[in-house]
Parts: sequence; C-alpha cells; structure tokens
Amino acid sequence: MKIYLADYAGFCFGVERAINIVKEQSHIKDNVRTLGPIIHNPQVVKQFEDNGVLVERDAGKLDSSHSVVLRSHGITKSTYEKLKKNNVDIIDATCPFVNKAHEEAAKLSGDGYDVVVLGEADHPEVKGIVSYIKGKYHIISDEKDIENVDLDSKVGLIAQTTQDREVFNRVRKLLETRAKELKVVNTICNATNLRQHAAKKLAKSVDLMLVIGGKNSGNTTRLFKICRELCANTYHIETAGELTKDMFDNVENIGITAGASTPDFLIEEVLEYINEVNDAGEQS
Ligand code: SF4
Repeated sequence: MKIYLADYAGFCFGVERAINIVKEQSHIKDNVRTLGPIIHNPQVVKQFEDNGVLVERDAGKLDSSHSVVLRSHGITKSTYEKLKKNNVDIIDATCPFVNKAHEEAAKLSGDGYDVVVLGEADHPEVKGIVSYIKGKYHIISDEKDIENVDLDSKVGLIAQTTQDREVFNRVRKLLETRAKELKVVNTICNATNLRQHAAKKLAKSVDLMLVIGGKNSGNTTRLFKICRELCANTYHIETAGELTKDMFDNVENIGITAGASTPDFLIEEVLEYINEVNDAGEQS
C-alpha cells in the first residue's frame, strides 16, 4: 500500500502558537488555566492536565490567583471584561486572524451594516465574533439560511475563520441580489483554505482516506465531510486505536489528512500502524 500525506495536515499557525504559549507559561507560572480546552483535541488536553494546566470552563471561577490562557479561537467581549474585572492574569493566545474577525465585525456594525456571519452559531469563535457587533446580525450556516431572513438595505458579510470559501462565495452571490449596499470582508483564514484544497486533491485519487482529529473539532469534521464527498471510503478517527486491519483490505492508495488541532504524534501513530499492516502483508 502507498501512503500519501496531504500538504498542510495538522497544526495551523494559530493552534501551534497557542500550544507553545501554554507550554511556555506552564514553565514560568503556577496555577495556569485554559478557558475551555486549549484545542479541540482530547489527547493534547490530557497531556497538559497531567502537567498541571487545568481546564476551567467558567470564567467566573477565576481570580487574581490564576493565570489564564485564552484559546486561539478567542472569547466574547463580556468574558474578557469579566476576567479583567476579577484581576485574572490574562495571557491572550487568540489567533491574530480571529482578532481581525472581531475587529471587522465591530467595524461593520459601527458603520451601520446589518451583519451576516457565516459560521456555526454554537461555536465559541462565532460567539466571540458576534459579541463585538452592536447592532443587528444573523448567523447562517449556508446560503439556504439567508432565504427567509429579513435584511436591512445595508448588509455586511463576514465569516468564522474556518468556513468553506465556496459556501462563502455562494452566500455573497445571493446577498448581491438582496442588499442595496453590500460590504464583504472575507475573514476566512488561508490555513483552512490550503488544508481543504490539499485534502480535496488527495481524496479524489485514493481508495481510502483517513481524516485524523478530535470528533469535537469543527474544522476536522468539515475536512471529513469534504473528503467523503470525493472518496466514499473515508474515516474520521481521533487515534490509531480506531483503525482495524480489515479497513485496508483491497486498498492500494491511502490518503491522510489532519485537522488544524491535530498534533504530529497522532499522525505518526497512524503512519506506524499502517506500516505495520503493510509489513505483515508482505511477510504473509
Ligand atoms: S485556523 Fe486560521 S484562524 Fe483559526 S487558529 Fe488556525 S491560523 Fe488561526
């Protein structure tokens, strides 16, 4: 069997930066917390917990005795203000691209636009983005969601950083027919686009596609859906422990990709497993 690893598989710039910040801070400070899991990957979160960096989900439980690292996808404006008020030592690992989406959201609403946000309504990043909007806004997951929405004449469009560019363009086209004045700010991060593009290219040409990453990771789940459309034999796995030998029956070409929050060691474990299956096949 031949194994092909997609370009850009694994950690993106923002996640790698956040992970490094947590590592660094845990060496120099006591009582370090992350506000929610630092990334959507249970294996990495467990490693940090074993080293004393605990996850706190309730910002109200943090005080001046704590240092808190903010995740790459950011927090809401009111949560930030609450932490400040309680004198918590804030270490901000929000990805600069997410900060940019916050700024653009605030700017659009400040300029009087009715803001359409393409994203997942219950995702912390989207909650963070809309918290910077003072006026009217709508969160949509695709162009169908916008059909029955009552829009003002001046509409602004932005997106969660990990959204699919093709869906964004479809929404843009539809809004062009609905709004008198449309301002589009593409806040989709290039890391997502590059990863999705490389995964699509690979999924088209293999018999089996493995997408590695947390089942709770939005960007990994999107990668899985994209790959499954092009290769029916696609699996979303968190670890090599989910693989079985029969998955590789009659398979010649295997493609592998991984979400932006998947560490290299999980990818390497999957590669090792496949190499073992390969070796066993050659010896039998
Ligand atoms: S996907 Fe993009 S925006 Fe999100 S953390 Fe990674 S680099 Fe930043």
